[in-house]
Amino acid sequence: MITRTRGMIIFMQNTILKTEKLCKTFSTGGVQQHVLKNLDISLFERDFTIIMGSSGSGKSTLLYALSGMDTPTLGEIWFEGHKLSGMNHDQLAVFRRNNCGFVFQQIYLLDNMSVFDNMLASGLLINKNKREVAAKAIQLLKLVGLDEVSWGKFPSQLSGGEAQRAGIVRALINSPKIVFADEPTGMLNSASSDRVLDILTEVNQNGQSIVMVTHDIKTALRGNRILYLRDGMICGDLALEGFHEQQPGRHEKLNAFLAEMG
Ligand code: ADP
Ligand code: MG
Repeated sequence: MITRTRGMIIFMQNTILKTEKLCKTFSTGGVQQHVLKNLDISLFERDFTIIMGSSGSGKSTLLYALSGMDTPTLGEIWFEGHKLSGMNHDQLAVFRRNNCGFVFQQIYLLDNMSVFDNMLASGLLINKNKREVAAKAIQLLKLVGLDEVSWGKFPSQLSGGEAQRAGIVRALINSPKIVFADEPTGMLNSASSDRVLDILTEVNQNGQSIVMVTHDIKTALRGNRILYLRDGMICGDLALEGFHEQQPGRHEKLNAFLAEMG
């Protein structure tokens, strides 16, 4: 539980995800690399958390562990009181599909089916009612501004920005409580980036938590909390009060924080 302010209003937020002494070590050719080192992190409901840090600092590895896509080497992860680290492979897959959405930089839609069928395929993993899944897909495809012509296209026939908007629909199709995004705008031009970020902002304002990795300061300003990862450890944790409001001073505060992080 954490207390935050939005304007003059004080409100309480529950912890959605918590790690205790989270470690991830990779062994390559007999050499061990300790990528995540004893991380104690609490993430809160409705937050838009940004993870920054230099290349190779462990940001993607952290997102994969938090979302249950990869298992930690040591330590615990708790999602609303459920211990992920105690789950077997199948339980983890069910947990992940029910609770987490993931938006990748490279998008990873299935190339051999239409955009609409991609959404159905993801939705039907959880909900066997095809009519309901189709209705949800249509609602979300409209939300992200993809027109009906693009629903029938194969992913390779979309522009980068359209494909990423489809990627967001895929991430949202099962109404996850938390959406992870790993540099989702890294391959997009500025106009497409803004559009994708506007959608993620709207998703967050509708109540879903977001954890997003980015290198870009302007993108990071979408968040209300910045975690800075250095060499597998959290070395900075900045609250950017205001929740997407164009509050004066946010940019300067983030710049000063990043200068301090080096
Ligand atoms: P970031 O996303 O911050 O750039 P990553 O989490 O992708 O960093 O990687 C952190 C370090 O872990 C890098 O040195 C990378 O080579 C290593 N790493 C990541 N995934 C694997 C893997 N599957 N096997 C071995 N090493 C890995
Ligand atoms: Mg990465």
